[in-house]
Amino acid sequence: MKKIEISFDAIPASAISQTKLTICLKCAFDFFTKQLKLSNRTAYSELKKHTPEEQDFTGAATARPHFLSGDETTNCPYCNGAKRWFATFTAIRVDAHPSFEKQRKKVWAALKKETELYALWAVERTQMQIFSEWLERLQHGLDLNDERWLLEAAMAQTKRSYPAVQWEEVTKEGLRRLQLSRQAEEDGVYENGWL
Ligand SMILES: [Zn+2]
Repeated sequence: MKKIEISFDAIPASAISQTKLTICLKCAFDFFTKQLKLSNRTAYSELKKHTPEEQDFTGAATARPHFLSGDETTNCPYCNGAKRWFATFTAIRVDAHPSFEKQRKKVWAALKKETELYALWAVERTQMQIFSEWLERLQHGLDLNDERWLLEAAMAQTKRSYPAVQWEEVTKEGLRRLQLSRQAEEDGVYENGWL
């Protein structure tokens, strides 16, 4: 299959989140041939066209032959099939924001042309849904036993509030403390690990 990489670089990293979904091709093939009674050949071409649904990526609604795997997953949780049967889909989510709307539209237009490789979903969400889903992702990424968790959560909130800032660049020398200030004239001041 031809590989087309569409760059998301123009969109601030803090507005993008990725979820990987694994499919076990052995399970999927079994399903097509045994349950749907398709011939091997038809099953194969159906499999090639297969696109997971948005809810498959949520975890709660993920079902055979899909599963969310970590690096340590070596066998299919359903049929115990080996890793060579795995294929991966990546959901790339962009939370729109007025500060980079032009860039988002450009990426969207580029994606639209690559229907073979990308399926597009534009899902309307309320502010509250966006916030609670963000919280959920944040919670998954935090290690509450690590004493830095509060700093990381505060930084994540800062990124969310100012998505257009290249925060990785600003804080590349490390972050030791994050403090709210009434005196700062600009959006933020970074010095010596303090923001
Ligand atoms: Zn399987």
